[in-house]
Amino acid sequence: MAGGQVVAGSNPVAPTYILPCFFSESGVFCFWVFRFIACNIYIMKDNEITIGDLKKQVDAFVDERDWKQFHSPKNLAMALSVEVSELMELFQWLDLEQAKEVMKSGKVREDALDEIADIFIYLLAFCNTNKIDISDALMKKMKKNIKKYPADKFNGHF
Ligand SMILES: [Mg+2]
Repeated sequence: MAGGQVVAGSNPVAPTYILPCFFSESGVFCFWVFRFIACNIYIMKDNEITIGDLKKQVDAFVDERDWKQFHSPKNLAMALSVEVSELMELFQWLDLEQAKEVMKSGKVREDALDEIADIFIYLLAFCNTNKIDISDALMKKMKKNIKKYPADKFNGHF
């Protein structure tokens, strides 16, 4: 698959291989568990993966590094804000047309994709930590937005 989103870290969906290997000196039968962490980098498009799958990817990445201890709502909200600022920094001092131009191709676009991914990762981590179903939250908020901004009254203006 090409041209999609890179999801790094071990894949909780990927098979875990359990290899019975030897009896130790104490006579306890040991198993070596091999998870192909290094190889578990998949490129997937939006219509090929669910938000639930992405949440699992982020959760596994965090868990494997024992980073949940740092994932308070405050820390994650701050980290999210920093990543949004990094996205904004790419357009600092550009006028509106220049900003559109640099997003067509090139380094700024590539950097923006990285920042978008960082933002999404922290957003999903925030949802994981706080047991938030982001799809449910989004649809409930869209329902409020539709009521607050009826299309016939807010067509073409705020
Ligand atoms: Mg970043």
